[in-house]
Amino acid sequence: MAAVAPALGTPEQIAKYEPVIGLEVHVQLGTNTKIFCSCPNEFGSAPNTNVCPVCLGMPGALPVLNHHAVELAIQASYALHCEVRNKSIFARKNYFYPDLPKGYQISQFDKPLSEFGWVDIVLEDGSAKRIGITRIHMEDDAGKNTHDGYKDSDTYSYVDLNRCGSPLTEIVSEPDMRSSEEAFQYLTELKLALQFVGVSSCDMEKGHLRCDANVSVRLKGTEPFGTKVEIKNLNSFRFLRQAIDFEIARQVGVLESGGRILQETRLYNADLGETFGMRSKEQAHDYRYFPEPDLVPLQISEEWKARVKAAMPELPANMRKRFIQDYGLKKYDAEVLTATRAVAEFYEAAAAASGDPKLAANWVTSDLFGLLKADGKEIEESPVTGERLGELVALVAKGELTGKLAKEVLPKMFTTGDSARAIMEREGLKAMNDTGEIERIIDQIVAANPKQVEQYKGGKTTVIGFFVGQVMKASRGQANPATVTEILSKKLA
Ligand code: ADP
Ligand code: ZN
Ligand code: MG
Repeated sequence: MAAVAPALGTPEQIAKYEPVIGLEVHVQLGTNTKIFCSCPNEFGSAPNTNVCPVCLGMPGALPVLNHHAVELAIQASYALHCEVRNKSIFARKNYFYPDLPKGYQISQFDKPLSEFGWVDIVLEDGSAKRIGITRIHMEDDAGKNTHDGYKDSDTYSYVDLNRCGSPLTEIVSEPDMRSSEEAFQYLTELKLALQFVGVSSCDMEKGHLRCDANVSVRLKGTEPFGTKVEIKNLNSFRFLRQAIDFEIARQVGVLESGGRILQETRLYNADLGETFGMRSKEQAHDYRYFPEPDLVPLQISEEWKARVKAAMPELPANMRKRFIQDYGLKKYDAEVLTATRAVAEFYEAAAAASGDPKLAANWVTSDLFGLLKADGKEIEESPVTGERLGELVALVAKGELTGKLAKEVLPKMFTTGDSARAIMEREGLKAMNDTGEIERIIDQIVAANPKQVEQYKGGKTTVIGFFVGQVMKASRGQANPATVTEILSKKLA
């Protein structure tokens, strides 16, 4: 008879404990071919079409390390502030499973590619924290067992080996996180940095980023860590949070009812919102790691490291800081404008051409994003370049175009691909900076609306809005509303 699980910890009980969390993140490197053979590294092909003797583990087939995979793994290391070892060793991690025809995974064990990294996170309350990265190592991926969707799926499982040999890095954090929110922020920042650098698409739906969470709890104020449980395969940010929070409550419940935590591997069932035991420490694999005899040690020269380091783009965290400090953007806008490298580069180009980075930020996040959204386009497909948008913003900043006119010009730039200047010249658009001309229009409008003038003089000053509207209309939006208001107030007084 299965033992009845103790109730989850109550909020009061949970408050007595401090969670300790460490993440192990697998990221698929965006190479064209697999890590040890030349099969395509591709998602979504017909099952078992991207395979060869090497990735199928045929006896005698020899692996050849993909140079590009190493290059990307070094980039990942630098994106996460790790030190890259001059010499790392591939090792065999032996286990039996139908999606692993070789009978072992080629990974790295005691001498990983890189170590001693970190990711800085910012929590919702604005406080900052540094999360350590223990190590990053390279390894090959396994295939996939498929249990549904095929003829006879009720009696058979199917194996697709296309993913066998896809290049992975495993990124192991220190047990530095103290809440599901910290874990969430860590994974968010890690993913963003790797996407920025171009190491991986990090597409979680395609399994290009997969996360295991190690969770334990200890009474607040106590030193030693509690026994940890590893929750496998959390394939969305939401599930990561939910699974960790559930697991904290479960462990507290066990401890508070006098039990002890079993060191085990658990899985998260998203439908039930619960984790359940998969295997205990006693049943854990003994992987019998040993150095891979078919691969020489991976030597990375100082020169190679220096070359990769020099070519690293600015990281999003730094960009965000710079946008806030140098450009005066709000935290939220800085985040939006560093959501992808393409957006950040677009904005930088716009900011530079505009001479007014703050105004440029508004134009990118509201007007341009609006047009892109309406057209179902990504920023990479924008018919208006960052520089062209910046030129438009510069015209507004210098008063050559009113904001209202610029909002008419931008959609035309969007459809024609022309510059703001070209459209202004073609359509005879320009801001009316000649106060004499504005005054002439104002005089006409005031003369034509004696009733409203009377109302204004009688104390109903809100009718000024009516006059401004009329003047803007008569000037075809070319008059500066601030100037119009100023002149009007004098004339009506
Ligand atoms: P294992 O030997 O089980 O692989 P490691 O020491 O290599 O364990 O750690 C694996 C992951 O678990 C790391 O991300 C680490 O930060 C985390 N971890 C280690 N100990 C704990 C703990 N007591 N509670 C939570 N996480 C932990
Ligand atoms: Zn192959
Ligand atoms: Mg380990």
